[in-house]
Amino acid sequence: MKRRSLLSITLASVLGIGSVLAYQSDAFASKLSDLQNQKKNVESKSSTIKSDINEKDEGIKEIQGKQNTLENELASLDIKIATTDEQIQEKQQQIKEAQQAIDKLKTEISVLKKRIEERNQLLDQRARAIQTNGGSSVNFLDVILGSDSFADLLDRMSAVTTLVNADKQIIEEQKKDQAELEKKQADVEKKLKTLEEMQAKLQSMKIEMNQQKARKNQIMKELGKQKKQLENDKLSLEEEQSILSAQKSAIEKAIKLEKDRIAEQERLEKQRQRQRQQQQSQHSYSGGGSSSDTPPVSSGSFMRPAQGYISSEFGNRSFDADGFHSGIDIAKGGTVPIVAAGDGVVTRSYFSSSYGNAIFITHSVNGQIYTTVYAHMSSRLVGDSTPVHKGQIIGYMGSTGQAYGQHLHFEFYVGPWTASHSNAVNPRNYISF
Ligand SMILES: [Zn+2]
Repeated sequence: MKRRSLLSITLASVLGIGSVLAYQSDAFASKLSDLQNQKKNVESKSSTIKSDINEKDEGIKEIQGKQNTLENELASLDIKIATTDEQIQEKQQQIKEAQQAIDKLKTEISVLKKRIEERNQLLDQRARAIQTNGGSSVNFLDVILGSDSFADLLDRMSAVTTLVNADKQIIEEQKKDQAELEKKQADVEKKLKTLEEMQAKLQSMKIEMNQQKARKNQIMKELGKQKKQLENDKLSLEEEQSILSAQKSAIEKAIKLEKDRIAEQERLEKQRQRQRQQQQSQHSYSGGGSSSDTPPVSSGSFMRPAQGYISSEFGNRSFDADGFHSGIDIAKGGTVPIVAAGDGVVTRSYFSSSYGNAIFITHSVNGQIYTTVYAHMSSRLVGDSTPVHKGQIIGYMGSTGQAYGQHLHFEFYVGPWTASHSNAVNPRNYISF
């Protein structure tokens, strides 16, 4: 579909072919706040478009309402027009009947007129014959003279009179009939006129209704166009919306990467701060020694516990009672802080005749227990059960217990401490000195 290809072109041009990838790789360069602003912009655009879409939807709904109303009006107009057509046909039928009635009446009247005319002529002839004494049909004088007696004469005269009167009466009746017919004709003509007027009125009603229908159809067409336009607008907005939502998810991805990066930075920064704080606290513990008094915090789980040189390695040694040195010795002059070799908990902080001031720390690394021992210290700074961090000062180098000169005797056990030192290992296996 055309629309779809348009969308993909628009998408590609807005995001750019590698835009999502660019977001990912450039995310580190882009500030989180910039990304969040971009996201806000996209969201606000998106919500504007959403309200635009709602507006279009309302427009479409409104037009649909109007279309429904118009459709109803058109339907009822169609019914009215059909009814009017029926009425017009009815009137036409009535007009036809009236015209036929008028024609019939006219014929009857003309027949009657002719008959009256003929009768009149006959009577005229008869009257003339009687008066002029030369009529062909009846000779009045013959009638009188031909009578046998006076009684006969009277009879004959009476017969003539009766004959004349009868003719006259017929004429009167016929004239009356004619008048009635003419009145009827006038009535029918009047009725015809009314019918024709009604028909004309119906015709003009029909014309008016057809005009209304045409107007409504025109409006309907216009509404259809408007609706189509709104629907097109809505589709474009929806396309824009889907582009924006793609942008939004790309930005969100970039924000997540940026946040992860910041979190990692913060973690590293905290670690550095902690190391700095530890170095500072070493200052206060050592009462003004330099920061170089504590060994630098190395990476890994364990670090060297004190500054100084290795005066004695782990292993066989002739002068120890059992001929074996179970730890490593670190020696240095002056005030030398001793630090925890790793994160852990102080399991013992005490004075022994052999170890002198000694601290045992238990460490847990990936589920494995290790124990470190710090002996011959001049003083201890942490008590039993104290959690300690790698690099935290726990005491100071000394020569308490069975020691010859100031040094730290440092032991390293895999597992818990044992009096036989059987599980003691060379600290160099875990720490580079
Ligand atoms: Zn030693």
